[in-house]
Amino acid sequence: MSLYQVTDGVAVITLDRPPLNTLGLPLRRHLDNALFAAQSDSQVNAIVLKGAGRGFSAGGDITEFDQPDNDQEPSPRALHDHIEASHKPVVAALHGMALGGGLELALACHARVAHCATQVGLPEVHLGLVPGAGGTQRLPRLTGPEKALNMILSGRTFRADTLAGSGLFDAVTTDDVEAQAITLAATLATAGTISRTGKRPCNMDNAQAFFAYTRSTLRLQPGASTAPLDCVDCVEAATLKSFHRGQEQESNTFRNLRNSPQFEGLRHVFLAERKALTPPGKAQQVKPLPLNTTAVIGGGTMGTGIAMAMANAGIPVVLVERDDTALARALTTIRDHYEGSAKRGKLSAEKAAANTALISGATDYSAVSDCDLIIEAVFEDIAVKCQVFERLDAIAKPEAILATNTSMLDVNRIAQFTRRPQSVVGLHFFSPAHIMKLLEIVQGDLTSAKVMATVLTLGKKIGKTSVVSGVCEGFIGNRMLQPYLMQAGMLLDEGALPQQIDSAMEKWGMAMGPFRMCDMAGNDLGGKIREQHLSNHPQLVYSRCFIEVEAMGRFGQKVGRGWYDYIPGQRAPVPSEEVNSAVIAESARLGLQRRFISDEEIVGRLSLALVNEGARILEEGIAQRASDIDVVYTAGYGFPTWRGGPMFQAQQRGLVDVLTTMSRFANGPTYQKADDFWSPAPLLSRLAASGESLFNVQAPEAV
Ligand code: NAD
Repeated sequence: MSLYQVTDGVAVITLDRPPLNTLGLPLRRHLDNALFAAQSDSQVNAIVLKGAGRGFSAGGDITEFDQPDNDQEPSPRALHDHIEASHKPVVAALHGMALGGGLELALACHARVAHCATQVGLPEVHLGLVPGAGGTQRLPRLTGPEKALNMILSGRTFRADTLAGSGLFDAVTTDDVEAQAITLAATLATAGTISRTGKRPCNMDNAQAFFAYTRSTLRLQPGASTAPLDCVDCVEAATLKSFHRGQEQESNTFRNLRNSPQFEGLRHVFLAERKALTPPGKAQQVKPLPLNTTAVIGGGTMGTGIAMAMANAGIPVVLVERDDTALARALTTIRDHYEGSAKRGKLSAEKAAANTALISGATDYSAVSDCDLIIEAVFEDIAVKCQVFERLDAIAKPEAILATNTSMLDVNRIAQFTRRPQSVVGLHFFSPAHIMKLLEIVQGDLTSAKVMATVLTLGKKIGKTSVVSGVCEGFIGNRMLQPYLMQAGMLLDEGALPQQIDSAMEKWGMAMGPFRMCDMAGNDLGGKIREQHLSNHPQLVYSRCFIEVEAMGRFGQKVGRGWYDYIPGQRAPVPSEEVNSAVIAESARLGLQRRFISDEEIVGRLSLALVNEGARILEEGIAQRASDIDVVYTAGYGFPTWRGGPMFQAQQRGLVDVLTTMSRFANGPTYQKADDFWSPAPLLSRLAASGESLFNVQAPEAV
């Protein structure tokens, strides 16, 4: 491949490394060589950088970060300095996306032309990093420090046209970006003017107050990555130091963060989320079906949320309810939600109205006969599901996908209510469905490859983090939650109080401890799940405290009382005397001498309860990979992303240590009935003995 093509004295250098033009070493070398060649080519007066395929560049190659720096030449920073120092003008032509290192490359050019729909952003903070190739020094010089810092701290992507007047681009166009970039490059060459970003001043009025205020707004969890604060420091350095000194600070900060355990965890989850999108088995080879029209059956808590998740992505939905009253209630919930969002400025009034209009209502199932995808979200009752799926089977077009949002019921059994079990799949959304990121895609024994490929594509389109699960009680997430809650109950019986357990877990990084989480989900709902679980596994031990809290009518936040009391208008839970007394009384009833339990023991027992069940799930092939389990817990259950997920944690500490600790718990002062709780998953014992990693376990071929 030639290094560049010359058009009218302009060398066009193409970033061509499918699928996303990741700026790993091979592409950086190519760019560096092409730049040298173009600079010494007498036919060339100016240079344009453009991306081949879907975009300019999605950024650096984070799998490369483990290698020693001196094997990485040219480093991104050296390449960018080379571009900026060029005596021939270099213009970036941006389309598709210019993210992270891709945007930093563009910032080093002397001018930028972007197609209006280009997605741009610096997402490094989500990985526990600062932009490390000049981003914190060049962006503030182009847009001003405030705008730059907001972009960097949010880690968000922005459409180029929303940044049109920001100073980031020299032109934003709906036309041919490459042609405009060539014209601009030629004009700059003729004028003999080159604007080097690093040479621009970076001034700001009241800079000190601005940076102090921004620091005060950052809420960093103890132990979490310090990257947001480091981003502030680096952008502040752009206003205080020379470009060169600022770059030095940025590089050192980047290197320190890159070597931190927080980055390890965040990178693991970043890569795991992408891996989870790989369709299982044959689904990799098939083309997804089109999904133009969808329907949701049942307009309760979940149905309304699912309908809004679809509408938010521009997908029309028909919402079907049992009768006019239920339908009116569901549509009012939706309208109120969008109107409220518009009032709070979260959505423009036009977008709110457009989303509302995408959701129509019906009480007659014939309204869904032509839909490509129908998602059932009716009561969690197998008889009701049976009725609904028989009706859908009779009315839906042959190629329609029939999905169930069941939390705990058997998707294979639901599929058998139809004559097309190959078209039935579980789409397990989490509440509230239009907000929560996680989507468990439950693959039945007979679900076809085409259906799997299609719903994985849908997950992406509606902005969810999707993970495929096999069929089992509670799928990946809720199944692991049961031993976690059982262990939390044992801790209560042995001597801890709910607030102590929650506080230990939250200090460790969980978004919410187990009892706050139960209060949010509803203790009546939790009770139903527990009863079902116990009916299948009568040998299991749950603390009676769960039953008592439910029997007291303490159903959780929705009634203002649960494991905690909730004062109207206040979010913070208040420890309940009534609950705490009941907990202490239960220990006495069991004849247990309550003891002091350390935070370390709480965290150890709860996190290893997750790991042991996770290993069983992996061994049974319910999860395709250990990293999928980590995605479920970080995206859906508030597990701290910077810890990488329960399985990553287990592998980091070593499986031998995991087994030793579990055996210590089994032999510790826990009560007798729970002893076999800690019998290790066979997979853990096997891997600990062989020294293999959880992350090399291959699930049996599916579909
Ligand atoms: P819900 O009680 O709030 O809503 C169910 C709705 O279905 C009601 O509005 C009801 O009128 C309607 N309905 C019942 N039978 C119907 C029929 N034959 N045709 C049309 N509509 C009918 O329940 P929910 O919390 O939204 O749960 C729905 C499903 O989602 C359940 O299977 C549940 O297990 C699952 N789920 C719930 C949660 C959660 O947190 N609530 C989370 C994930 C999954």
